[in-house]
Parts: sequence; C-alpha cells; structure tokens
Amino acid sequence: MSAFGSVFMPEMAITWFDGSQWSEPEVVPSDSLQLHPGAHVLHYSSTCFEGLKAFRHADGSVRIFRMDMNMQRFAQSSELLALPQFDQEVVSQMIRDLVAKYADQAPEPPGSLYIRPTHIGTEPAIGKAAVPSLTSCLYILLSPVGDYFTGGDKALRLLLDDEGMRCPPHMGMVKSGGNYAGALQPIMKARAEYQADQVLFCPGGDVQETGAANFLLIDGNEIITKALDSTFLHGVTRDSILTLARDMGMEVQERQLSIEELLERSARPGCEAALSGTAAVLTSVGTLIHNGKEYPVGNGGIGETTVKLRQALNDIQWGKAEDTHGWLESI
Ligand SMILES: *Cc1c(COP(=O)(O)O)cnc(C)c1O
Repeated sequence: MSAFGSVFMPEMAITWFDGSQWSEPEVVPSDSLQLHPGAHVLHYSSTCFEGLKAFRHADGSVRIFRMDMNMQRFAQSSELLALPQFDQEVVSQMIRDLVAKYADQAPEPPGSLYIRPTHIGTEPAIGKAAVPSLTSCLYILLSPVGDYFTGGDKALRLLLDDEGMRCPPHMGMVKSGGNYAGALQPIMKARAEYQADQVLFCPGGDVQETGAANFLLIDGNEIITKALDSTFLHGVTRDSILTLARDMGMEVQERQLSIEELLERSARPGCEAALSGTAAVLTSVGTLIHNGKEYPVGNGGIGETTVKLRQALNDIQWGKAEDTHGWLESI
C-alpha cells in the first residue's frame, strides 16, 4: 500500500481568480500546474488547504462527510490569508462533480476517497511581501486512501513541548502550508531524541494540539479538550467525536487543560488520550514524554473508549449506522 496521500486521481478541478472574477471551473490533468516562479505563494506562503473524505456505501453510493464545515473553514483560512474570496457553493459543486466523476474509483471500506481543496496566491510579484496577491488559483485533488491502520494500530508517543509553539497564535485556525513546514524541526527533533511520534504543543503549559491533529483526554465518562479559540485548528473530527460522545452520554468539557492536570489524570487506570483528524480519525496516545520522563496514559495501550468512538464515527461514515446528524451528503 502506498503512503497516505501519494496516489492521485488523474484529473483535478480548477478555477482561477484574475483579480476581478473567477474562471469557469474546469477539470484538467492533475500532474502539473503552471505557475510563474515569482508567484506570491512560492515566496510568501499565501496558501491554505482542506482535507475531507468521501465514503463508499454498501449500496454503491458515495457520500461526502461534512463538506459544509470544511468549506466554511476553507473560506475562513482564505480570508485570514488575504486571499481572494470565493463562492463556497461553487467550490462545493466542483467537489461534488469531481467526486461523481471518480466515484467508481472510491475505495471500499476501510478505504475512502480523500479530497484536498487548495487555494494559492498566484500573482507574480515578489515585491508584495506585505501586500496580498491579487490573483489566485483554487484546485481540488482526489487521493484514494486505504486503511490508515494497516500494519497495526499502535498507541502513539507524544512529546509535550511547553516552550515552543506550532505556529504564531494568530495563525492557529488557518489551515496554511507555512504552519506545517514551520513545525517540522521540533517534530524531527522529538523523533530523533525521544522516538516520539508527534509533538503535543502546550504553549505556557496549556495543552493545545499536535502538528496536524487535535488532542482529547478521555477519563472515564469525561472527555476534556481545549475550548475553541483562534490559536489552534478547529477540527471537524474533533467536533464530530465530541458530538458522538455527548450522544453516548459522556460529559464533554471544552476548557483549558494544563500539563499538570494532564499528567495527573493520565496516571489513573482507565484514562485514555487520543488524537483526532480526518486522515487517522481517532488514534490512541499511549505515552506522554515530559522533561525527559515517560508517563504511560492509563494502561499505555489502545484505549477502549477511543476505539468505541472511532467505530461510532466510522459506522456513520460508511453507512453502517444511522446518520442522525445529517453529516453525509450524496453527490
Ligand atoms: C487538519 C488539522 C486538524 C484536524 O482537522 P480535521 O478537520 O479533523 O481533519 C487538526 N490540527 C491541525 C493543525 C490540522 O491541520
């Protein structure tokens, strides 16, 4: 199986903003994109993206999961990067049409069709370091993905970082390229020094998120996760899991969580921690590493409630459980 996101459907949907209007959306080969080497995005990172999935159901239909949430976030990211505004309905329709065109290639469960809308500033103007790009390009890639957990569902090791930050606080809720490149050094260092899988950024001791996933602490019937603010990415999976947890009668607490409280609760038997995101859905965290010491979370393995919540979400996505919240859209 190829690495997640390394296989693409042969075509993408694309539209260009010329400074005054968007071009009629087209479907074009997805193996190249022509840009001026002075394009704003290549110098000043005027770029944002989204990640959502379409799922094949037993009846052969293909359904897109919570696209409205991703479109709102995409529009918000674009606005915060001073990229041109787009019509969310037009872009949603580009996605529906492209997914419909490749529906027969949407993998069977546990696979899915990953959808990657991307918006970049294209103006060839290297003098515009402090000025927005007047022109832009918005395109949508499709990538068939398999089971994220092939090779075993192992509990992750997270290094708690209370000094660094994933990105500047005002960029937290922007799904923008520069945030990821900027977080690579601390993550690579954590891998090399602590065999950590990810860094859990905790600026000033406040538990936030990892490089590309939200963090949830599951302690008995309680789920604790940081309340939404502008410093971190508002995951659609986070929102979906919290909703399902409430449906199951769990007590959801969206509030500040300190490293101290996290470590104290983690030591309790039955405590679990997990990362949430579209790619891996919900992944168990087995070990926290802080100031050179290792702290197992609960039994240090895969959490029972984590698996139960992940299954509940997967069941809705694959049409095996009723979609009581209206999250799936047929194309
Ligand atoms: C995409 C992303 C998430 C998860 O968002 P989902 O909508 O659940 O996929 C969380 N944190 C960061 C930094 C992300 O880029």
